Amino acid sequence: MEIVFASGNIDKVNQVKLILDEVDLKTPVDFGIENYEVEENGKTLKENAYKKAKALFDLINKATIADDTGLFVKSLDGRPGVYSHRYANQNPTYKENRDKLLSELEEKIDRRAYFETCLCFIDENGDDHYFFGKLPGTITSQESGDYDFGYDQIFMPDNFDITLGEMTKEEINKISHRSKAFSQFKEYLRKKQ
Ligand code: IMP
Repeated sequence: MEIVFASGNIDKVNQVKLILDEVDLKTPVDFGIENYEVEENGKTLKENAYKKAKALFDLINKATIADDTGLFVKSLDGRPGVYSHRYANQNPTYKENRDKLLSELEEKIDRRAYFETCLCFIDENGDDHYFFGKLPGTITSQESGDYDFGYDQIFMPDNFDITLGEMTKEEINKISHRSKAFSQFKEYLRKKQ
């Protein structure tokens, strides 16, 4: 089955390809759409995931998926949350976002946080379906790991003593918020066929 993933983020696409191994996963570039981007101005992960999947569906009229992820920090009342992408400024590097979070947490004792992913699937008829995944953990006081993706280098999942930045893609796929949402989706597709 062919599904088009509404993402230009190579880190995400590579993670998802490992999970959806039975799907012929395409990206906007395969349809001549370079730098696919949609304004993520929704108030929830669900709204943003829908916007990204629907705008692509309207362009190519094929089944699409999109995900939106946020990092919700307890002692910051859930920030950066839905605004995880543009946390430090309008066009931040991953490092700028991490530095901002570490400085906001400098005085905080409670460093609990969780990642949440919402996946929106728009099927060939244009109907929307949703799948969610969460990963609880804590924010470390400094970066560790070479894998520079988002907040990975400062997020230590519960029951681990290394950050996501120190894990391999395969290890991350066993536990991550994104893999939980995509694994549910995979199961849904299996039952649908
Ligand atoms: P997006 O809107 O789903 O692309 O995610 C918003 C931001 O959250 C991204 O720009 C990354 O900084 C961060 N992010 C998303 N997924 C992950 C993840 O799996 N690990 C670490 N950071 C992530």
